[in-house]
Amino acid sequence: MKWVLDTHTHTYVSGHAYSTLMENIQYAKKQGLEILGVTDHGPKMPGGPNIFYFGNLKVIPREVEGITILKGCEANIIDFNGNLDIPLIIQENRLDIIIASLHDVCITPGTLEENTNALLGAMDNKFVDIIGHPGNPSFPIDEELVVRKAKEMDKIIEINNSSFRSRPGCEENCLNIARLCKKYNVRVIMGSDSHFCTEIGVLDKAYSLLQKVDMPDELIMNTHKYKIIEYLKGKGKLKDI
Ligand SMILES: [Zn+2]
Ligand SMILES: [Zn+2]
Repeated sequence: MKWVLDTHTHTYVSGHAYSTLMENIQYAKKQGLEILGVTDHGPKMPGGPNIFYFGNLKVIPREVEGITILKGCEANIIDFNGNLDIPLIIQENRLDIIIASLHDVCITPGTLEENTNALLGAMDNKFVDIIGHPGNPSFPIDEELVVRKAKEMDKIIEINNSSFRSRPGCEENCLNIARLCKKYNVRVIMGSDSHFCTEIGVLDKAYSLLQKVDMPDELIMNTHKYKIIEYLKGKGKLKDI
């Protein structure tokens, strides 16, 4: 399979990543991608960007070097109600794509019920598009409840390529989540979670996991650029495309 988009990438602005946006774009081009999601960590990440960074994303052209840029954020879920570290006005007016993720440096992992509520609450937020790395073993969740909520709220579940390296023990969770997504007809998206430009578009581990569950092509968002464009336009975003 050929994938044409990577919606989860970081630049050095995230504080612990090492490439510029231009380097990421050039590598995306080299990888044959058509869409690059620029999703630096939200401001609560230690060393992360100030909120002004997200407010000013409009200076980045929609298309650079032939790559369509989705200007977004990997927002931090900061409480067990699923609130994010980005003001609503920025979520609504400045971001093309929002990944909501749990990170243990921004919120101390709670009980299974608390962690689950955090993700369910984040999905009640109409501006959230993707739940980032829900297979993270540091935050045990009720996977079935999360996937069913994604169906109900029309959210996308991420299969994160970096998890297999950086979140040990995630594989079993990711496999179960992928199986549930297939069962409930929930869309999935592979993200590299790149923190250095050479990781852009590297999705092989995520893809082999999707193959293990025989995920139908129509549920995989990376295979055609119009899948994500139509999804986001359907939510009132990307008015200029
Ligand atoms: Zn990071
Ligand atoms: Zn993350």
